[in-house]
Amino acid sequence: MDSLPDDSGLIAVVGGGPAGAVAAATLARQGRRVLLLDGGPRPGAFAGGESLPPLAPALRHELRLGQVLAEGPHLPCYGNAAAWGSATLHHHSFIRSPYGAGWHLDRPTFDAALRAQAYAAGAMPATGQLRALRAAPAGGWCLTLPAAELQADWVLDCSGRSRVVSRLLGQPYHYADQLVAHYLRYRLPDGQADAERLTLVESSPWGWGHSAGLPGGERIVTLFTDAGQPMTRQVNTLAGFVAAVQELPHLAQLLAGRGYVPLGVPRATDARSGCLAQPAGERWLAAGDAAMAFDPLGAQGILAAVSSGHQAALALGQALVGDDKAIGQYAQRVQQQFARLQAQAREHYGQERRWAEEPFWRARKAPVKAFS
Ligand SMILES: Cc1cc2nc3c(=O)[nH]c(=O)nc-3n(C[C@H](O)[C@H](O)[C@H](O)COP(=O)(O)OP(=O)(O)OC[C@H]3O[C@@H](n4cnc5c(N)ncnc54)[C@H](O)[C@@H]3O)c2cc1C
Repeated sequence: MDSLPDDSGLIAVVGGGPAGAVAAATLARQGRRVLLLDGGPRPGAFAGGESLPPLAPALRHELRLGQVLAEGPHLPCYGNAAAWGSATLHHHSFIRSPYGAGWHLDRPTFDAALRAQAYAAGAMPATGQLRALRAAPAGGWCLTLPAAELQADWVLDCSGRSRVVSRLLGQPYHYADQLVAHYLRYRLPDGQADAERLTLVESSPWGWGHSAGLPGGERIVTLFTDAGQPMTRQVNTLAGFVAAVQELPHLAQLLAGRGYVPLGVPRATDARSGCLAQPAGERWLAAGDAAMAFDPLGAQGILAAVSSGHQAALALGQALVGDDKAIGQYAQRVQQQFARLQAQAREHYGQERRWAEEPFWRARKAPVKAFS
């Protein structure tokens, strides 16, 4: 097994998604020695259909997202259309937003552009899945990759929902719900492109559906249900998924009216909200979904991942120059943000009262209970 050369003072960032790429870039800009380790695409990971809301120019600048968003094949998102709390479709246009439109992201391009910024700032690239982690005799960590061992002084867990570092460290994580997403791509016949640039959200007795246009002309439909419910088993098959879409009249009309046809079969992905009991500890920090994963209803995950990757890197930079409170303050901010966005999601779910006694909606009215 090889050892990567000269690893003194190294910070290993595990995960090259938005949180990891931004954390590595921020640390590299501070002159730190950083390695950005990414495991590459994972089968089963959610791919596509994610939106970013309109962003204030100052925030875009601080997080260095301006160029990344301007140069990609991302589509503008002009607002949301939602049938939520009533059968009527209400439009929430971003036209009045002082920050302009949002984006329907091409995720592989977005993530690759963020990683490219990290490499340009001086972060070292590495590919491979982190398999094991143990405390190094001289302090810091020894990381085992498939074909190499690596010593690092600090490790940042930015591995998304797999939260590999905190799992390997045995850190407790609390889930707030049992949400599962099933998604299926659709295309128009003859490769036509759809000019619709709104995100559609529609609730139903068993959960809710979401649809957005994808860069490249396809459309994604995602159905959100709770694990263990009959509808969750139904939407696992193509026929069951298509039948469930028929129960969402606006979504069904959008697909049928334009002549969309499904591509392939539905796939399932974990969509639970959850948070690490402790997002930082002795020589490690977690950021992005690895620290806290949000309900996709709020479409806040990517921005929160980018922002927490940046904040984690700043806190670590301060700790390395002797600020012994910086990491504790970062951990506290993560927990406060999770509590705030959870409360927002609850409020949003509370606006739908038509099926209050159905299991999906009842679970969102009950006091927040931690699932392990
Ligand atoms: C159905 C669904 C819909 C969503 N819709 C939206 C939306 O509209 N808007 C929005 O903002 N957010 C949305 N989100 C949330 C968003 O996808 C996440 O919040 C975001 O991807 C988190 O970024 P991250 O960098 O923390 O993790 P990720 O993007 O998951 O990146 C983690 C990285 O770690 C790597 N990795 C994993 N394990 C290892 C390992 N062992 N070794 C090395 N590398 C590893 C992976 O390869 C990956 O590159 C949605 C989520 C779901 C499930």
